[in-house]
Amino acid sequence: MRALIAALCVALLCAAATPSANAAASTAKAASQPAVLSVTQLAPGLYAHRGHDDVATRQNGGDIANVGFVIGTRCVAVIDTGGTAAEGRALRAAIRAVTPLPVCYVINTHMHPDHILGNAAFVDDHPQFVGSDKLAEAEMSHAANYLRVLTRELGDVAAGSRVIPPTLPVHDTLDLDLGSRVLALRTWKTAHTNNDLTVYDKRTGTLWLADLLFAGCLPVIDGSVLGWLDDLATIRALPGVQRVVPGHGPLRVQWPQALDAERDYLARLARDVRAAIRAGQTMQQAVDTIGVDQRGRWRLVDVYHRRNVTAAYAELEWEQ
Ligand SMILES: [Zn+2]
Repeated sequence: MRALIAALCVALLCAAATPSANAAASTAKAASQPAVLSVTQLAPGLYAHRGHDDVATRQNGGDIANVGFVIGTRCVAVIDTGGTAAEGRALRAAIRAVTPLPVCYVINTHMHPDHILGNAAFVDDHPQFVGSDKLAEAEMSHAANYLRVLTRELGDVAAGSRVIPPTLPVHDTLDLDLGSRVLALRTWKTAHTNNDLTVYDKRTGTLWLADLLFAGCLPVIDGSVLGWLDDLATIRALPGVQRVVPGHGPLRVQWPQALDAERDYLARLARDVRAAIRAGQTMQQAVDTIGVDQRGRWRLVDVYHRRNVTAAYAELEWEQ
């Protein structure tokens, strides 16, 4: 039952992992979202906020993903908006604390609620909302569940959060000019999700990988383990990368060591699941035996690892 709840939880990319955590969340005093989100300048004019290494709860206000913004001479681009409208407003306040320039683009790196549900805070800025050309459909099919779960788990902390689909879809690649600063956007094959998008700031060589890179927190497969491994090989060979920003975990990571750690986890998962399928193991047997030593190497293993084995099994059994 515990595993089922955890799996459901991940499927909805939601909230507390267990009934006991749920109960604790409902009785705990909600942490009010700070009025101004804390941000770090990682490179000139490029700021990021580090989310909590956790699932979304009332206490953390759904602030579990890394989000940020980039400033040009003409305007500002936001990269992901956080897990609630309140977090989006706090991110907007952080932008206003460092520049009066208008927000012209709100980029969503993929469909997951911790990256998109702060969009509402930027509507009055009339930006282009930018995402993969597969993002709108993915959001449409998941929005009701995302919002239902968010409201259930966060209560009034979730107020005003809603899905705002892209107005500027990206097919393959797109350059956004912020004024003397170009962001190169790129979509990828199905990996973390089927609508992953990265942002490369040409001026500083910063590659915002979002959830194509989990650092310290266990990678979550909501797309394809094989696609993700292919994408990582391509990403690792990209020229000119000075730094990368993960979607979860520390804002400053060793490059390419952080990518290699994620690749090793995913590659081993694929290898072990293939072996289990060849040996005639059921999905449940695979879930019970594969990667049980990963606890301690990554945060949130208990929440996500079994789901990853399940996803990899479902994907790989068809290649036999
Ligand atoms: Zn994600």
